[in-house]
Amino acid sequence: MADKFDVIVIGAGPGGYVAAIRAAQMGLKTACVEKWIGKEGNVVHGGTCLNVGCIPSKALLEASHKFVEAQHDFDDMGIEAGDVTMDVKKMMARKDKIVKNLTGGIAGLFKANGVTALEGTGKVTGSKQVEVTDKDGNAATYEADNIVVAAGSVPVEIPPTPLTEGLIVDSTGALEFQQTPKRLGVIGAGVIGLELGSVWNRLGSEVTVLEAMDDFLPMVDGAIAKETQKLLKKQGLDIKLGARVTGSEVKGDEVVVKYSDAKGEQEITFDKLIVCVGRKPYTKGVIGEGVGVELDERGFIHVDDQCRTSVPGVYAIGDCVRGPMLAHKASEEGVMVADIIAGHKAEMNYDAIPSVIYTFPEVAWVGMTEQDAKAAGIEVKTGAFPFAASGRAMANNATEGQAKVIADAETDRILGLHIVGQHAGEMIAQGVIAMEFGSSAEDLALSCYAHPTMSEAVHEAALAVEGHAIHMANRKKRK
Ligand SMILES: Cc1cc2nc3c(=O)[nH]c(=O)nc-3n(C[C@H](O)[C@H](O)[C@H](O)COP(=O)(O)OP(=O)(O)OC[C@H]3O[C@@H](n4cnc5c(N)ncnc54)[C@H](O)[C@@H]3O)c2cc1C
Repeated sequence: MADKFDVIVIGAGPGGYVAAIRAAQMGLKTACVEKWIGKEGNVVHGGTCLNVGCIPSKALLEASHKFVEAQHDFDDMGIEAGDVTMDVKKMMARKDKIVKNLTGGIAGLFKANGVTALEGTGKVTGSKQVEVTDKDGNAATYEADNIVVAAGSVPVEIPPTPLTEGLIVDSTGALEFQQTPKRLGVIGAGVIGLELGSVWNRLGSEVTVLEAMDDFLPMVDGAIAKETQKLLKKQGLDIKLGARVTGSEVKGDEVVVKYSDAKGEQEITFDKLIVCVGRKPYTKGVIGEGVGVELDERGFIHVDDQCRTSVPGVYAIGDCVRGPMLAHKASEEGVMVADIIAGHKAEMNYDAIPSVIYTFPEVAWVGMTEQDAKAAGIEVKTGAFPFAASGRAMANNATEGQAKVIADAETDRILGLHIVGQHAGEMIAQGVIAMEFGSSAEDLALSCYAHPTMSEAVHEAALAVEGHAIHMANRKKRK
């Protein structure tokens, strides 16, 4: 038997590495096991988020957005940039450098906080035992009073479109294209599909998004989703709703995709196809036989509200358990579990987890939509404010979009904030904080916002809840 720890975390994504650092900060002897092999052949930390998720996608989104701005928006501001071109390989090299810096940084944080990094594949072999097998097949068993499984998730594949090297790819493959495909297909109009579709659309691909559902972004408030769809269409994304992919055929360098929609059977040819139909928990093999940790029918590790599994002392967090598959949700669960293990009272508010789509403009939301609330029988009042009426948005050349506040009609308590607009991902924190503190729409309306800022749209939307918006005509009757 090798070393004994207070806590062993399996997986060093944003769930696992945060849990490990927090546990070590709480004075617990902590190890974190990771098996991800990076581009240079060594084990790297950071999981999906840092290696093939949040960070590389945002590096490409930012570069491609700047490219579009330089092409189309600079002129209006008096900046003459001449012919603007994009060097895709250079853009990719920058993305890889950012990933390398960040993943390397976690190794530094482990060292600084006294977390022992164990390299290899971790497996829970008992309620207090983890076996780690390195890449050469050498196994060692470690003891721990507490185990945190943070094994993450992997992309879902679908039978009609099996991945085909360089042609039919998942989100990871779409972050590696070395040139802009002429005709790009994206299956799935979810967060990842819209972000990756936007990157390549901005760089010149003709992008068609095939979405099986009839509704666009059903998790976002209806008014915001409708405006987003309109804006993305204007940018050139051809989003086909109610389009069910039934098959594909690779013909030389092309892929022919078959789908059915309201009009019947259709066919469309692409130079590359990205499959973005969701992610599934990556729990295969991480729990040894007979340990007793229960998985649900979809492979998620079954946990309670505080991420305890069915076996005392074994916790699970992040994408491998229920709830939204988001990096910050994983990290907050990591902090909660570390605090619980250290003997503190800790809990998470699952009603106030923000989501962001990093298109341009960004789409961000927290809490209920107006439709959710109505379906739950809650009477609501809402206020919305368009960025077209914002001075800062005009100065920023970003007048598209709106902010919408959803409040309980009786108590005025904020139930949701949904935004489409430049920097919506930054502004949404206001909704999170308001909801965490149980604020009313009036609380936001009576707060003093800096001028001129994009955030003033949230202020005005809160004022509009009672028909008191200042910088637009209120349609609502004031009480
Ligand atoms: C293209 C893309 C863009 C995204 N953008 C965003 C975004 O903008 N914002 C956001 O919040 N989320 C985003 N996500 C989702 C986000 O990446 C995940 O929600 C997040 O990474 C989940 O964190 P995690 O720690 O649970 O799992 P992961 O990040 O998947 O990490 C799990 C780690 O566990 C390791 N592991 C698994 N099994 C074992 C084992 N047996 N032994 C040792 N190690 C093991 C894996 O190698 C991995 O490193 C994006 C995802 C993708 C694919």
